Amino acid sequence: MTAAAPCDVIVVGGGPAGMMAAGRAAEKGESVLLVEKNPSLGRKLLISGGGRCNFTNAEADPRVLAERYGDAKHALLSPFSKFPPAEVMEWFARRGMPYKVEANQRAFPVDDSAQSVLGVLERYLVEGKVEVRRGFEVTGFEAESEKILAVVGRQGRLRAGRFVLATGGTSRPETGSTGDGFLWLKALGLRVRFPEPSLVPVAFREPWVADLAGLALSDAGIEAWVGDERLGRQRGKLLFTHFGLSGPVVLNFATELSRWRSQTARRGDLILKLDLFPDVDSRDLDRQLVNLFAVQPGKKLKNALGTLVAPRLVGRILSSGNLDPDKSLAQVTRVEREALGTQLKGFPFTFKKLMDESRAVVSSGGLHIEEVDWRTMSCKKIPNLAVTGDLLDINRPSGGFSLQLCWATGRVAGEPRSF
Ligand SMILES: Cc1cc2nc3c(=O)[nH]c(=O)nc-3n(C[C@H](O)[C@H](O)[C@H](O)COP(=O)(O)OP(=O)(O)OC[C@H]3O[C@@H](n4cnc5c(N)ncnc54)[C@H](O)[C@@H]3O)c2cc1C
Repeated sequence: MTAAAPCDVIVVGGGPAGMMAAGRAAEKGESVLLVEKNPSLGRKLLISGGGRCNFTNAEADPRVLAERYGDAKHALLSPFSKFPPAEVMEWFARRGMPYKVEANQRAFPVDDSAQSVLGVLERYLVEGKVEVRRGFEVTGFEAESEKILAVVGRQGRLRAGRFVLATGGTSRPETGSTGDGFLWLKALGLRVRFPEPSLVPVAFREPWVADLAGLALSDAGIEAWVGDERLGRQRGKLLFTHFGLSGPVVLNFATELSRWRSQTARRGDLILKLDLFPDVDSRDLDRQLVNLFAVQPGKKLKNALGTLVAPRLVGRILSSGNLDPDKSLAQVTRVEREALGTQLKGFPFTFKKLMDESRAVVSSGGLHIEEVDWRTMSCKKIPNLAVTGDLLDINRPSGGFSLQLCWATGRVAGEPRSF
């Protein structure tokens, strides 16, 4: 079965990068077909930012922004200069999605809804009269002398003048991102690094951690220790889950934790210590405890602690420090008070493992950056094939950087070109 008439461009994958590319090509006058294997578009986008969608990072300086993308920092200057965060935010606002910028330059829709971001993109496609074929699963490309001729799927063969590949990475495969594009790129003879989970939550050994699931801390420090050596420290927002910890601070720590685990495996457990008072050093915290204890000497330790930390942490902190919850503050000895301070500045958890793809936010790996012409996002060896979004081998932290990558590379990939 063959499509009746080839269109100018076929975009494979209806995630943020593919939708942006398809909409841009149509806006510039091309006939566009977008194929998506799911019955609906943007499934991963809808779960991004916990459903709130941190849709870009508002960093104003393109060079500072590019620094966050590791080895791709020079390559990305070109797409970022064409569609920088300020323009991305303005683009969404013009299309009916006001935004707000929160801590660490994270930009969100004002209504905290990823659905609003998807709504803008879907309207963009309708506006440009992009033909969208949902439920069309591509199985590969038909190519001839460094040129793609058609995409092939169970439902037929589709021809076009040029192609944009936007099938995403391998994180959260239930959303449709099953890494299909990596295999096709490899089969075309391009350099591809097999993906592995990158921004990924951490599981702990302590089974009781499940009791804390859902507890969010807006600002905490987290330190990695083996024996009495401190390996590293991060600070930011974190979230307890039923298996361990997630949230930006942990996601951004994951790659290092994995490396330390393998480097130090023979030296004992890798311990993560949670600093609940990251702005205060141990001495100041002890002074604060002394003052607090002096004000209400008759108060029970567990009740006093409940005024300092999230109530769900109180029991765990006291048992971890071997402290009697029912002791009055007047009865607490100096040694016990210092033990409490130690817990508040370093509440310990034992690292078990990083979670797998099914829990990852982003997978690292993908098409090698040297295979890409960054002025057009096309493959140097196959000029009528552009690649965008999570398919690119680019490491970046959590904070809106992944979607900024999708918007900029998707838009550039969508720009019309002749061959
Ligand atoms: C839980 C979670 C939270 C996140 N939060 C944020 C955040 O707040 N901010 C941020 O910047 N980033 C976030 N990310 C990352 C961000 O969602 C991704 O970087 C982004 O979705 C990648 O877009 P993409 O278009 O490249 O690929 P995807 O979104 O993966 O889309 C690829 C599309 O291609 C389709 N497809 C795959 N194979 C085929 C095939 N064979 N045939 C046809 N179609 C196919 C898929 O079904 C899918 O719809 C988050 C990710 C996760 C998992």
